[in-house]
Order: sequence, then structure tokens, then C-alpha cells
Amino acid sequence: MTSFTQHSQRSAQHSSIAIIGSGFSGTMVAVHLLRQASFPLTIYLIEANPAQFARGVAYSTDSACHLLNVPAANMSAFPKDPVHFLRWAKKKEAKGELNVPWQTESNTVTATSFLPRGAYGDYLVELLDNAEHNAVANGVYLERKIDKAVALRIEPKSVMIGLLNGEHLRVQKVVLALGNFPPGDPVIENPVFYQSPRYFSNPWQRGVLQALLKTTSCVLIGSGLTMVDWAITLSNAGYQGVIHTVSRRGVWPQEHKPHKPLAFSLDVHAKSPSVRAWLHEIRRYIRESDCDWRSVIDALRPSIGILWTSLSLVERRRFLRHVRVYWDNHRHRLPPVVAERLNELVRSGQLQKHTGRIFSYQETEQGVEVLIKQRGLATATTLSVSAVVNCSGAESNYRKLNNLFVTCLLSQQSIEPDPLALGLNVGSDGALIYSDGTHSECLYTLGPPQKGMLWETIAVPEIRVQAEQLANTLLTHLPNLTSTVEPLSQLETV
Ligand SMILES: Cc1cc2nc3c(=O)[nH]c(=O)nc-3n(C[C@H](O)[C@H](O)[C@H](O)COP(=O)(O)OP(=O)(O)OC[C@H]3O[C@@H](n4cnc5c(N)ncnc54)[C@H](O)[C@@H]3O)c2cc1C
Repeated sequence: MTSFTQHSQRSAQHSSIAIIGSGFSGTMVAVHLLRQASFPLTIYLIEANPAQFARGVAYSTDSACHLLNVPAANMSAFPKDPVHFLRWAKKKEAKGELNVPWQTESNTVTATSFLPRGAYGDYLVELLDNAEHNAVANGVYLERKIDKAVALRIEPKSVMIGLLNGEHLRVQKVVLALGNFPPGDPVIENPVFYQSPRYFSNPWQRGVLQALLKTTSCVLIGSGLTMVDWAITLSNAGYQGVIHTVSRRGVWPQEHKPHKPLAFSLDVHAKSPSVRAWLHEIRRYIRESDCDWRSVIDALRPSIGILWTSLSLVERRRFLRHVRVYWDNHRHRLPPVVAERLNELVRSGQLQKHTGRIFSYQETEQGVEVLIKQRGLATATTLSVSAVVNCSGAESNYRKLNNLFVTCLLSQQSIEPDPLALGLNVGSDGALIYSDGTHSECLYTLGPPQKGMLWETIAVPEIRVQAEQLANTLLTHLPNLTSTVEPLSQLETV
């Protein structure tokens, strides 16, 4: 534990960076800063949710049935050491410290194993601890702050951050690593239902499982990986009721299967690139080369950013409207063991799939009637259940978020949503772009907020590269000023 005197002395002499959010993105920026900084530096790593420190939303689960959806060989936190995580997992397994209850193909960890997400969280915690320990010799310190950032003000040579506990920090650079937000409530006729205790708007909130286990049937809105997580979590916890899933197109994630890597690319320099032409080309290639479609999707992944930026805004919108759901279900795949469990649940009748749009909820004494309209049909289907869980995926439209800190950033025009409302306007070095087009010299981001800019930016293989690059950028541009901790009274709150 750092003493107050030590802390104050350091604050007076050190450069400082605040990282807000300690999921994979924020934690890995901190790890790289701790490893690379060669001058006195204080890094504040601020996380609102103590259970998510160095883990974020994805890797804070303690359920062993929540598996990574990427094989161990592709989950290294370091782009230059691709098997770092695999080595770590093998070491842990050898010491009997890795619990992999769902390992089916063999009892040992291999490159193709899908390991528990909680184990990945342990890996990140260890990386941060080690980097912190080794950095002290260089005068580089990590200050862990369990608190919520609620306000931010840009000053001529520094940035002030207000924390919920009343403290505020003055630093030179800030990384907004806010990650994935809870899902937004789907538009319906009578949104008053969203106030009901039968409705769970955020599936990741603590206590949802315990509450659901007291119900006799439920609806999961959505058909992506969150829906899959919940169907399996409920069944593993002994849930006896029927689990209904409702989504507009009824498209569920595909399954991972072994496939050969291949060299396939699309013409990024085409005169007027179009989504339709690319789809045509992909389909033709798969048909004629008789390859597994997974090989094509994986081959495209490194060039997705370039492809995306070469599309006009109209074409990107076209992609979102017509192709997104199919891209997502081919790109974000299920580990085979998870796909098998899901199929079992469907075969047993416990998991029931409904295709259509929920347009209304009617609460009754017994529960809630969920009214669903199928495409092209005039009549509605009614499901009578005890609870509804929103598994429709992270809300990306910053203007729709009910979040004090985001409201503050928007009101001061410190952040500017991108034109597709998928995230924020961000430069190639991670600097936020203000509404007048200038690049920030003090605010940066990485990961999910860059979705509008890059499309493929929400998973470890992309974020690990961004984290290393951003740490380099920050260290290059960091002026040697002082940092201080003062009471909140000096900062206007929103
Ligand atoms: C359930 C799930 C499973 C996934 N599985 C995989 C996988 O297997 N492989 C893969 O490659 N990718 C996976 N992903 C993708 C995942 O998004 C990324 O890998 C990565 O974890 C994103 O990290 P992040 O730090 O940007 O965001 P997050 O993990 O969302 O972390 C952001 C953090 O910021 C904190 N925060 C937000 N606002 C504030 C504030 N005002 N003050 C303080 N703290 C704040 C939040 O509490 C949170 O802990 C998964 C995602 C989810 C949601």
C-alpha cells in the first residue's frame, strides 16, 4: 500500500496518465505503459466495478461454463508473442491451477482449446501485477482507483477528472477505455414495462441469475453470444422452465470447426467498392474453391479495417442494414462444446426459438405476455412468461446512453459520436476527434468505441495491437508536468 506522503511526493514530480476503465483495453494500455516508460510516471487506472478490475465485463465471470469464443492460441495479450496466453495456460494446468470442466477433445490445454473466460481474467490480473511490480525500479507507479469517473474538464495543459467519491485528479493524458455499455431497450409500444421487476435490462448486472432462478419461464431478447451465455448459464444452474429466445431474423451464431488457413482478399482499391460486389465475390470464391467459409472470414479479418474505411457512408449503412446480422453470426462463432450444449437444449424443448419483433408487453398477475409479430404475418404470437432479459447486445449510440460521465463528455463536446452511431470519431493514433475536426492532444481511446471507424475492433486480436500502439503514442507525447490530487469542489460537476 502506498503511503499518502509517498503519493504526494510522487505527484509533485511525475508525469501522469489516467486510464478510465479497466477491462482488457484499459488494463493492456496500463501494462504497456508500465513496461515501457523509462521516466517517472504515475498511471491512474480507474474502474467503477471492483469485480471487473483488470478483467472488464467479458472476463470477470466466475462461471466455468462461460468460455472464450476464440481458441487459446489466438488470445495472447501481446501481438509480438502470439502464444503467450497458451504458455501461461499450460503452466497453470501443470500446477493444477486451471479448471477446464468442458474440455472434451483431450484433457490437456492445446492451441485449439476454448478456455474459461474467468481464467483469461486471471491471466490479465497477473500481467498487470507483474508489470506493476517490475516498473517501480524505473519510477513508474500504478495507482488503482476503484471509483467511477463522473466528470472531466480539459484545461490548457492538463485534464481534470472528477470521481464519484469527491476526489479529482489532474493528469496530462486520459485514455477513455469505457468498453461495452449495457444493451439499450428495444423500441416498443408500451415502454412502461421496462420499469417492471420482471424486466432485466442489463444481463451483466449482479443478481440477475439469482432472480431468474426464481422464475418459471423467461424470454431472452436477442440471438447472439449473450443469449447463448444465458441459455447455458440457466440450464447449468438447474433452471427447469422454458427459455424462449426472440430475435428479428432468428439467426444464431455459427460453430467453430477446424479449417485450413488460406490467402483470400478483396480488392480494397476498387473504384467504387460496394458491399454487394464483395458479397458476390466471397460467395463465388467459396463455391469455386470448395473451401470452408470459415477460412474466408478468417482470411479477411486482418484487412477489415482497410475494407471498411474504403466504403462510402452509404455503403457502410447498407452493410449494417442488410449484412451485419449475417456477418456477426459467421464471424463471432461458438466453441463446439457450447454449440453442442445449445443443440441439446433445443432438442430437449427447453430452449425455444422465435423469429419476429416484440412489439408489446402486457403484465398480468401471473407474469407477462410478450407479443411478437413475425415478418410478413398479420397475426401476433403471444408468449406467457415470468421474466424478460435483454440480451440484444451492447448499446453503441453514445447519445442514447443513460450514463453520467458520457453525458458530461458529450455536453462539453469532448467526444463526438461517429456518423453511424457505432462509437466515437477517433484518429488513427487513437486520439479523439472533436466536432470541429481537430484531433485531441489529451484524450484517447481504443477498442469498442472505434467500431464506426474500423468495424473490427472489439476483440482481443485487434485491441492488443491498439493497446501497444497507444501506449507508445502516449509516452512519445507526454510532457513532463506535475500531477495533483485535490478535492472535487474545484471541479464543476454536471
Ligand atoms: C461476454 C463477452 C465475451 C467476450 N468474449 C470474447 C472472447 O472470447 N474473445 C475475444 O477476443 N473477445 C471477446 N469479447 C470481446 C471483448 O469486448 C473484448 O475482448 C474486450 O474485453 C473489451 O474490453 P474493454 O476494456 O474495451 O471493455 P470492457 O470489458 O467493457 O471494460 C470497460 C470497463 O470500463 C469500466 N467503466 C466504464 N465507465 C466507467 C467510468 N465512468 N468510470 C470507471 N470505470 C468505468 C467498466 O466498469 C468496465 O469494467 C467478449 C465480450 C463480451 C461482452
